[in-house]
Amino acid sequence: MEPAVERECVQRRTQPINCDFQFVVDDRSGLEPNAFQTVDSTGRPIIGFTLSLIGEARNADELAFVIGHEASHHILGHINRKTSAATVGAVILGGLASAYGGDDNVIRTAQDFGAQFGARYYSKEWELEADYLGAIIALNAGFDPEHGAQFFARIPDPGDKILGTHPSRAARMSQVARAVADHRAGRVR
Ligand SMILES: [Zn+2]
Repeated sequence: MEPAVERECVQRRTQPINCDFQFVVDDRSGLEPNAFQTVDSTGRPIIGFTLSLIGEARNADELAFVIGHEASHHILGHINRKTSAATVGAVILGGLASAYGGDDNVIRTAQDFGAQFGARYYSKEWELEADYLGAIIALNAGFDPEHGAQFFARIPDPGDKILGTHPSRAARMSQVARAVADHRAGRVR
């Protein structure tokens, strides 16, 4: 997914955002399945997962969908637009290990972020936008997003577990189906 995510980011960004994604894995045991995205101090996007999220995924389509969804929040500028939204509580993402040889700085940034974000707030609209674009990215990378979105049947919202408000699963599945139909019909690349 990484090359596909970065290619889509470069093609779709509307502002000169950094598209060199870093992937990290929080490998502490006992954490709930979770995924997040943030940027480091230089604006480099980071996508993180807990080990249990990877363990819960039954196939590559599911992981690809989660990655596409999280990356889409960055590509669509949600992280910048949400800065004034609620940040409550603290979730400490310690013990981060990089999946792709990340250095201490990346890990520290992710930890800082984890300490801050507590209650990340994305609107339902943003979630659905991220589901739509995430599905397109997964398709372009050769994965099946409708298959991948079955993840929602077991984990209501793997990417945004900490939120209070989520779109319904039905709304999200129909968003994914719409993306697949649009892609098939050539309405979106
Ligand atoms: Zn999300």
